Amino acid sequence: MSDDGTPVLSLEDVEVHFEDKPGLLEFGDETEVVRAVDGVSIDVMENDVVTLVGESGCGKTTLGKTAIGLQRPTGGSVKYRGHDIWDIRDGNSDADITWRDVRTSLQIIHQDPGSSLNPNRRIQTILAEPLKQVRPDLGRTEKRERILSLLERVGMNPAPDFADRYPHQLSGGEQQRVALSRALLMNPDVILADEAISAVDVSLRVEMMDLMLELQAEFDTSFIFISHDLSNARYFTAHADGQIGVMYLGELAEIGPAEEIVNSPKHPYTNVLRWATPDLSLQQTGEIPMRKIDVPDPVDPPSGCRFHTRCPEAREACQTEHPPTYSDDRHHVACFRENEDHDYWESPKLTD
Ligand code: SF4
Repeated sequence: MSDDGTPVLSLEDVEVHFEDKPGLLEFGDETEVVRAVDGVSIDVMENDVVTLVGESGCGKTTLGKTAIGLQRPTGGSVKYRGHDIWDIRDGNSDADITWRDVRTSLQIIHQDPGSSLNPNRRIQTILAEPLKQVRPDLGRTEKRERILSLLERVGMNPAPDFADRYPHQLSGGEQQRVALSRALLMNPDVILADEAISAVDVSLRVEMMDLMLELQAEFDTSFIFISHDLSNARYFTAHADGQIGVMYLGELAEIGPAEEIVNSPKHPYTNVLRWATPDLSLQQTGEIPMRKIDVPDPVDPPSGCRFHTRCPEAREACQTEHPPTYSDDRHHVACFRENEDHDYWESPKLTD
């Protein structure tokens, strides 16, 4: 499709809250609300890469799934080419796009490809299934040719040999290449790669990321890349001139170009991620730049700025007021320190 400046995906003030009911063996009958994602706005453009980083439980996977329509938000909106996907799903949209179009255009590659590939089917059959959906006009031979050429393209040679194997006869890296091929066969606009290289042997991760970047350009696709590793996030995002979004406790703390996030982070939490990633060769020394290690409970997140209980720069103003997002070109940061006139600077430092 043409690039008219409309984002392929636009997330506006997205909120995902889950009800967590007590189990049979738990006391009490109070249902708790887990605030997995709160107030996140992100645009994904044509041929874009948006990478989400943050510690485990920060909401990056929930946000990714919400972006591609696998999770319904409890607030805000997710738009595909300017149309609310849940209005399309509910039949309340006059867009010339069906829910099936949306689901086809927004694909996912899971962390563990083995669990998403049917163990009882050969690779050829696994890949023929999605192809049947998008190209029902193709005959058996044409389908086989397309599958073989894509397997070759993702480095699985000899392709006929791999096409006839079962998933368990492949390595983790080969399974991930099949998962990537399956997503690409749908001709998607966006692929959510959820920790997609974590299952790949460390020595092959760069090769896998290079392959994904090459295919991104070839297939005119955008990626939402989720990683707990800032070093991989930097590699993948910088090569595509994309953006890294840093998530903390369900919120977007900072988002901007990869090198700016890594070399000149503006949010104190990004500094922590940088410190915790030795591969970045930034010669980070000394203590971790954080007051407390424990992650607060997402059922009852801290008031004001959610990072204030751990932030080394926190002041009293951070306890009561939620920081807005301050923007400077492509770099957006949710921290009072970006506003030199804010009361934050006059308020006493938190020390406990
Ligand atoms: S708003 Fe305050 S607590 Fe939050 S990151 Fe900035 S300085 Fe730290």
